[in-house]
Amino acid sequence: MKAHDGMYIGGAWRPAAGDEVIEVVNPVDEQIVATVPAGTAEDVDAAVRAARAAFPAWAATPPAERAARLAALRDVLQTRKDEIAETVTAELGAPLALSQAVHASVPIAVAASYADLAATYAFEEKAGNSTIHHEPVGVVGAITPWNYPLHQIVAKVAPALAAGCTVVVKPAEDTPLTAQLFAEAVHEAGVPAGVFNLVTGLGPVAGQALAEHPGTDMISFTGSTAVGKRIGALAGAAVKRVALELGGKSANVVLPSADLARAVNVGVANVMSNSGQTCSAWTRMLVHRDQYDEAVEMAAAAAGKYGDRIGPVVSARQQARVRGYIEKGIAEGARLVAGGPDAPRERGYFVRPTVFADVTPEMTIAQEEIFGPVLCVLRYEDEEDALRIANGTVYGLAGAVWAGDEAEAVAFARRMDTGQVDINGGRFNPLAPFGGYKQSGVGRELGRHGLTEYLQTKSLQF
Ligand code: NAD
Repeated sequence: MKAHDGMYIGGAWRPAAGDEVIEVVNPVDEQIVATVPAGTAEDVDAAVRAARAAFPAWAATPPAERAARLAALRDVLQTRKDEIAETVTAELGAPLALSQAVHASVPIAVAASYADLAATYAFEEKAGNSTIHHEPVGVVGAITPWNYPLHQIVAKVAPALAAGCTVVVKPAEDTPLTAQLFAEAVHEAGVPAGVFNLVTGLGPVAGQALAEHPGTDMISFTGSTAVGKRIGALAGAAVKRVALELGGKSANVVLPSADLARAVNVGVANVMSNSGQTCSAWTRMLVHRDQYDEAVEMAAAAAGKYGDRIGPVVSARQQARVRGYIEKGIAEGARLVAGGPDAPRERGYFVRPTVFADVTPEMTIAQEEIFGPVLCVLRYEDEEDALRIANGTVYGLAGAVWAGDEAEAVAFARRMDTGQVDINGGRFNPLAPFGGYKQSGVGRELGRHGLTEYLQTKSLQF
């Protein structure tokens, strides 16, 4: 697989400051597919300087021109879609069909939405005797995870560029090739030098250097809650804008009036998709006690059909982590009804699609994010009990409610402490704000709300 041996800084690929490299491993066969440079604080500094130098001109570029660059970026992503899908498959291990349908496609929709928003957003407005100006925050450091390698980058870079900010991206070490492809796409789209910069590297080295750099005005981070807390603390100490998209333990609430088979089957598919490596996955299915046994049977049957078609998880480390949680679930007394901790293949970081029944709310597997193909089915007594369980974790990222009557589902969803809820299945909407309540994060991505994260407000009084 093609890889650059440098960093994309100031509109060109430049040699890295150090000699260290990161090996990119294909999770299906454990073969090394490429190496990329492991950036240091020196590379980060060069990238932040380039972003700083490019900021005044980009901030002053008319929104219509910024919109034109984003539209061009959307077109390049569209043209190079197959290449992107193949790259995501090579480094994440996702089945090619998923890479095409989701990993390579969603970023096109997101880039398109910000091309529109940049062109139509009211960057100036009037209020009484004032004019209000929505101005870019400045230089943004973006730190992204591997689970949706391109989407996570585009969900930060597109709104930042639309706002007039310049950016330095530090992508996840497991999936840097997709990030390099994105840098090529930005270049091809004619985005001016220094507006977008890429430094590949390890989190505690390059990521930490970016988060600490005094030349960034904002850090936008997506990843684990543990690292997010550190980044939030660093930003707090420097009084710097911060956006955090963190973990989740989302509830899929099946109310008694729901179409049970549909709710269970869509719920299982939601958890197994991308091998469970989705922060918004509905990993806790809540079913009324009268329907519980039937739902468990359906969920086990549905999970059994996936086999290893879901693809592996991203790394040996992640595989060990997920298998550890499955063992913990068994040890704490949950009933395994599908899958299990043993690896389904000798090679590759595969984990069996796993379903646990008789899960109680205080169990570790019902509280902590597993980030693998593991579903917990919990029993509730009545609606108040379901709400208590749904809201009973430190997280609040997403969720689902199913009911025969839409209004009933909406009423329940409004009482959930969570940032996004799908009603009777829902459908992905690139304009809908996405982000967490509680420890799932600070701030929102996508749509208008995602754009305003990168803006600060000035008022002029007359
Ligand atoms: P992670 O926090 O280890 O890594 C995320 C990014 O942070 C990577 O680029 C990594 O290199 C970097 N990083 C690691 N340590 C750092 C440090 N000390 N300073 C600065 N940067 C550092 O998370 P992960 O294991 O890569 O991803 C899985 C986690 O991400 C899960 O918990 C998942 O829920 C979360 N996630 C959340 C969302 C969301 O939108 N809320 C989306 C995807 C993933």
